[in-house]
Amino acid sequence: MTWSAREERQPSKIVKRTCGCETCKRDRNEPNAIHEGTVHSYSALPEGGWKFLRAPGEGSYMGGSRLLFMGIELETDLSERRGGPRMPVEPPYPHFADSMLYEERQQISQAYDDSWLVWDRSCRDAYREYWKTHNRMSAEEATSLAVPAKAWLPKHDGSVSGPEFVSQPATMAWWNSKQDEIKMMLDGLLHAGLHSHQGDHCGMHVNINTNTFESGKHLFQFATLLIDNRAWATKMSQRTQSSLHWCEFDEYNLTNPMRRLRWADRAVDDGWAEQDRYAVLNANNTDRIEFRLPRGTLRLDRFYKNLEWVAAMVEYTQTRGVELRASAFMRWAMSNRVQYPNLCAFIDEKFAAKAIVKGAAISAAGSVFAEMSGAFAFATGR
Ligand SMILES: [Zn+2]
Repeated sequence: MTWSAREERQPSKIVKRTCGCETCKRDRNEPNAIHEGTVHSYSALPEGGWKFLRAPGEGSYMGGSRLLFMGIELETDLSERRGGPRMPVEPPYPHFADSMLYEERQQISQAYDDSWLVWDRSCRDAYREYWKTHNRMSAEEATSLAVPAKAWLPKHDGSVSGPEFVSQPATMAWWNSKQDEIKMMLDGLLHAGLHSHQGDHCGMHVNINTNTFESGKHLFQFATLLIDNRAWATKMSQRTQSSLHWCEFDEYNLTNPMRRLRWADRAVDDGWAEQDRYAVLNANNTDRIEFRLPRGTLRLDRFYKNLEWVAAMVEYTQTRGVELRASAFMRWAMSNRVQYPNLCAFIDEKFAAKAIVKGAAISAAGSVFAEMSGAFAFATGR
């Protein structure tokens, strides 16, 4: 069994007999909630606009900081290899030379956008045709598995064959309060034959509200934790080298620390910054930073690992001058296991966590706890 097969395991017959997901209910000819919904176009907005979801009792601030909202784009797939349709090849993203004038860049950008739209439409047609002629759950039906329904907008994205599930921005506490629904959704999709991890070309992008970063320096530290620990960040994301071109570390604005600081200041001050949209962090959209690195998943604990990873990095990097080494971050995370259980379980599994914590116990601060509570007090102003 391969590693990825363990990540997205098809249910056994015994599981299928008792599974409570809508797909399994339908397969057992029981009443179920599956119906044909709409796969919206890529540029669609949710009805009534974006709503920032938070748990009951959550204000706008926590510990003096603005709340973090995470909006997800979860891509799903049914590739040709797995019995899905043959998709047309995506037009390559243009190369922008440093010497290019703004107008020149705009022209190339526009031409690329036009060809991308043509390609996206042809993907959609191919996909439609496929569902019509194959007796599988259609993309339209798959949309009805997205729960809580009001939190998700299923969209079409040419780069993947399944729907892309775009969520409303929501706090960690809100996401945590919906674990049962998210489990039903992910199980339903997986048991219907869709994938997100397997095939390695789906992402689980996490959009972060820019104003959760208190300053350019905060965003700079967040970006630096990723950029300076590239091998670690890639392992955390579960991507392989082959899909990293969707989320470049070598983006012009991010590689050099001086440029990165200017990029972070611009993003926080203006709400956005011009840059390559396929960078590991993309500030090209207004008021949100898109973190493109996490690989797609239909596995519940990995889904929450990705959210907790983002939340933990945002919290950790708000302390000015905090150590931006991966080991220091993981040590800190491990001392916050109650808050970040899925993140810590992943670190246990992939990074020999005991060694990390042992290192922390003999650090200058004396203990993980002292180190941690000091950082927390500083960060939250308590
Ligand atoms: Zn099921």
